[in-house]
Amino acid sequence: MTVTTVAAYAAPAPKAPLERTTVPRRPVGEHDVLIDIKYAGICHSDIHQARDGWGKGIFPMVPGHEIAGIVAEVGSGVTKFTVGDRVGVGCLVDSCRECDNCKADLEQYCTGGGVPTYNGLDKQGEPTYGGYSTHVVVDENYTLRIPEGISLDEAAPLLCAGITTYSPLAHWNAGPGKKVAIVGLGGLGHMGVKIAHAMGAEVTVLSQSLRKQEDGLKLGADHYYATSDPETFKELAGTFDLIVSTVSAPLPLDSYLSLLRTDGAFVNVGAPEEPVSLNLFSVIGGRKTLAGSGIGGIRETQEMLDFCAQHGFGAEIELIDADGINEAYERVLNSDVRYRFVIDTSTI
Ligand code: NAP
Ligand code: ZN
Ligand code: ZN
Repeated sequence: MTVTTVAAYAAPAPKAPLERTTVPRRPVGEHDVLIDIKYAGICHSDIHQARDGWGKGIFPMVPGHEIAGIVAEVGSGVTKFTVGDRVGVGCLVDSCRECDNCKADLEQYCTGGGVPTYNGLDKQGEPTYGGYSTHVVVDENYTLRIPEGISLDEAAPLLCAGITTYSPLAHWNAGPGKKVAIVGLGGLGHMGVKIAHAMGAEVTVLSQSLRKQEDGLKLGADHYYATSDPETFKELAGTFDLIVSTVSAPLPLDSYLSLLRTDGAFVNVGAPEEPVSLNLFSVIGGRKTLAGSGIGGIRETQEMLDFCAQHGFGAEIELIDADGINEAYERVLNSDVRYRFVIDTSTI
């Protein structure tokens, strides 16, 4: 198969509405799979990047790094997949495969040149285009298997929202006897609640208001507090072993660090466009950890998919047609997402 053009939705320029277009896909190489994309989740990172909030964006940009679909063709050297397999692709489509991080299954921290699913350059120097599209060609080593038992639409958001919360929860040992708080009940946050609950932790949601309290408790939270209420910070002072913040905007970190018990960790996965400030005394007293975490490696992403299937859940989604992408972006920006928009890519 030669280079082909496929239908896609792209932001032609920073902050411009997304519109229908076509993009090239490379020929299926020896170790590649051609994926017939069925669903693509909308991550808040798509919005940051389509609006060039993090800078250095490559336009036109086809966002989408929560891809679920079916293998339509395999290269001659492919051993892991066959035509008809249910597969997913997350935020990474290649990495150097040689650095210490790649060798340790931490490709997300590749120091030799990781290739993001979109808004990056591949090893040939060509721009990568993401999942708001009908097809994509990906190396089999960066392709995940979606287990039976999770529908493809509810699986798509696991490829970013699922792994981004699973990885820190696993690394910081969320489990029985641990008090875990999830800050922000959006796409990442709702997966964080489900996963932390399934790991056996006592889970608290810290949301801006109590608007989504009923949902949060249904998702598996034991407690739910509004951060707009100053009493919350007094009542919960010194409570948590682990706080995972999924908030897309800058937070008053000192207030949140005061909610940790001694030796507790605040792990930030939110990626706001502006810097935050910190009083270092907030981590000195109580020997507290302030950390960050980025998505997860390929091995851990497969582990997360299998974990979710074993516990019988995917994401809570609102399925939309491609012409609803721009409206969905506005709703995500207004914290009005219940809890992940997923595009039916047959409408592209
Ligand atoms: P999302 O669905 O919009 O959820 C973010 C949630 O944060 C909102 O639902 C809201 O929850 C809360 N929030 C928003 N603005 C706030 C504010 N000003 N103050 C306090 N809380 C606020 O977004 P997402 O897709 O989950 O992504 C969240 C962030 O993680 C984004 O910045 C994204 O780029 C980043 N991200 C990072 C990684 C990584 O690897 N580290 C991976 C994926 C995404 P409530 O309504 O409950 O308050
Ligand atoms: Zn994402
Ligand atoms: Zn590497």
